[in-house]
Amino acid sequence: MPLSDSQVADDDLLEFAAESPDTDDSSALPPWLVLMVDDDQDVHDTTLMSMRGMEIEGRSLQFLQAFSSAQAREYLANNANIAAVLLDVVMESEDAGLRLVKAIRNEFALESVQIILRTGQPGFAPEIETIQKYEINDYQNKTELSLVRLYTSLTGAIRTYQHLRAMEETRRGLEVVVHSSAELSKSRNLRSFAQGLLSQLCALMNTRADGLVCARLSHAANTQTRVVAATGVYATLLDTPLGQLPPGEPRKVIQKSLELEANLVGATTTLYLPAPGDQAVVVHVDACPAGAIDQQLIQAFCSSMTVGLENVLLHERMYSLAYQDQLLGVANRNRFLELLQDQIDQVGNGTVAVIDLDDFAGDNAMFGHEFGDALLKTFAQRLADTFGPQVGLARLSSDTFALVGSEQQITPEVLALCSSAVLQVLNQTVTVSATCGLVRIQNGSRSGAELLKQAYVALKLAKTQHRGDSMYYSEAMGTDATERSTLLRRLREAFESDRLFVVYQPQVLLRDGSTIGAEALLRWRTEDGKYVPPDQFIPVAEQSGLMISIGEFVLRSACHQLRSLNDLGYPDFRMSVNVSQVQFRDPAFVATVTRALADAGISPRNLELEITESMAAEELDFVLNVLSELKQLGVTIAIDDFGTGYSSLSILGQLQLDRLKIDKSFVDDLCESAGVAKSIIDIARSLKLELIAEGVETQQQANELLSMGCAEAQGYLFSRPLAVADLLSWLQSRT
Ligand code: C2E
Ligand code: MG
Ligand code: MG
Repeated sequence: MPLSDSQVADDDLLEFAAESPDTDDSSALPPWLVLMVDDDQDVHDTTLMSMRGMEIEGRSLQFLQAFSSAQAREYLANNANIAAVLLDVVMESEDAGLRLVKAIRNEFALESVQIILRTGQPGFAPEIETIQKYEINDYQNKTELSLVRLYTSLTGAIRTYQHLRAMEETRRGLEVVVHSSAELSKSRNLRSFAQGLLSQLCALMNTRADGLVCARLSHAANTQTRVVAATGVYATLLDTPLGQLPPGEPRKVIQKSLELEANLVGATTTLYLPAPGDQAVVVHVDACPAGAIDQQLIQAFCSSMTVGLENVLLHERMYSLAYQDQLLGVANRNRFLELLQDQIDQVGNGTVAVIDLDDFAGDNAMFGHEFGDALLKTFAQRLADTFGPQVGLARLSSDTFALVGSEQQITPEVLALCSSAVLQVLNQTVTVSATCGLVRIQNGSRSGAELLKQAYVALKLAKTQHRGDSMYYSEAMGTDATERSTLLRRLREAFESDRLFVVYQPQVLLRDGSTIGAEALLRWRTEDGKYVPPDQFIPVAEQSGLMISIGEFVLRSACHQLRSLNDLGYPDFRMSVNVSQVQFRDPAFVATVTRALADAGISPRNLELEITESMAAEELDFVLNVLSELKQLGVTIAIDDFGTGYSSLSILGQLQLDRLKIDKSFVDDLCESAGVAKSIIDIARSLKLELIAEGVETQQQANELLSMGCAEAQGYLFSRPLAVADLLSWLQSRT
């Protein structure tokens, strides 16, 4: 039966507010809703009359009046908070009331509502079974509808309702706690965890209040407290440090909670979650817990969230170790490779820069690590400020940084703002210089790792050719680099499997052609019988440091060869050994020579070391020291390829040298223009040095050199470099 408007009009909802509310509390709490279902107007009137002004548990009563079961259903469908139903058993039909009871329990699933059955005819009392099955609270005969009886019955019903609701609320709360911890255990970062924490607390409290989460986190040595999640009116405060929140609430209560390490629950709710290492998270909502949310439930919520928080922080820590530079807090190499891959996959163009500080090792050694760290921090900040958040910034290794971004953002011009900058480091003004290698990301660019390699190639080249400046990578550089690395790998294998050996080129006295000695020259014969020229593989070995071992191998081979020549009756034979710049710089070099001499048991004066002019041109003090130690051993020193370098006469004069080797290029030119060779010979004379000419191929050259005052020579005219056995027969044939 449809309801008429008048029947559901507001004035049907009668509220008996307390005549004079004695406390604020009781007036604040809503009245209990009681649904009265009866087709007898008199019953309604009498009930309302007798209950007027009554309070139960400090709250007034509000009656919903229904005159049929259909109307009652309407109320039940629209009011979730009905506490009790006063229900007439017999209405439209004899069992209308009981059918309504079934509907309340089953259809509307209102489990806590208390039902008081009322009947005019005693004979219609429901079966015991029915009372039990539908949890009927009471049964009354309308004839004995006294005020006291009704009040007692309603009070009992409402108290039961209240307890049931509290239990329901607790169960729901526990469900939220369980659900929350399951939900939040999926969070991988603090931000999403905090966001979830906020919404789960609101769910627990059955509210949609505004709230925020503050985290006190320690990273490296510094501790920071800032907002990590915020909703509603607080949304704009995300990322704000706690100290910069507007004064007053909620800043004060959050600070207090952190200080006391405690939950603060009152008009608002502030919960404290501790975390390892004096870290903590505080979640705050502008709402107080609804009646049934008790202390224990909040405690359960906090405990379970604390476990979740620990997991999240652990995960963040692991992430930071794997992807962040621990000193500077910027991305590390791993993370940079990911950023690079993103740029390749999602943008398809852009620029990568690798930036290396010039002379950082020197600064670090001179001013100390603390200064070095501060310099790196300042420089990283400079890069971040110059390029902004759109450009990915990382530290790849000690003083090498990397950037990835668009072509417009990363240019040599912008980089120059950082690569030659004046910085304030620990109250000192420092001028830094940095060199950059750049590479453009193009359609079809290969992996991030490959691009990074190319940027490094450009950097390496820039370091030697344009220090303090930028250089773009080009294909030509790349093939060189790849070839070099293949060559190096093959050389290492050859060295390890003894495919390197030494040959000896005789040196003679021009005057009579007698043999003075030989120069030891390295050979690499590949597995398929081909020779790789030393001019090709020696520079590669030098770049990698492999030259130190290879050089020692040549030195020891030559010394042993000298020893057998001594034993075979050539006691004054002189052995020349080439010394690479890398070997010369090796702090162990003098010791290596000493050991080689001792192990072979040869006289040091029969060993000559050939160094190059370029070596003499740098770090004079160092060169002077090493040379004087070598001279003390008793070995002699020659300058190889003399005339091709740029060493100044004044420097040459300071070095303890024995001989100049006139480079082949001057010998070649001898017959057309003897001028240069002549001046080299003059220099040697003025410095009181011996001379030897190399690359002598013709008798004419030999004659010319002799007439100019050069006593010794080496070249194809006399002999090509010889294998050990051939050297012996050559020597024997000459005597
Ligand atoms: P170098 O020290 O100036 O050696 C002389 C080079 O000239 C040798 O080339 C030799 O074979 C070549 N040569 C000698 N006489 C003639 C000639 O009449 N005509 C021509 N066309 N060439 C002649 P090689 O053996 O190819 O070595 C080239 C360079 O490789 C050497 O120049 C030296 O700088 C370096 N090298 C060779 N072996 C070693 C080594 O054991 N250690 C180091 N550090 N460098 C080495
Ligand atoms: Mg030489
Ligand atoms: Mg030479």
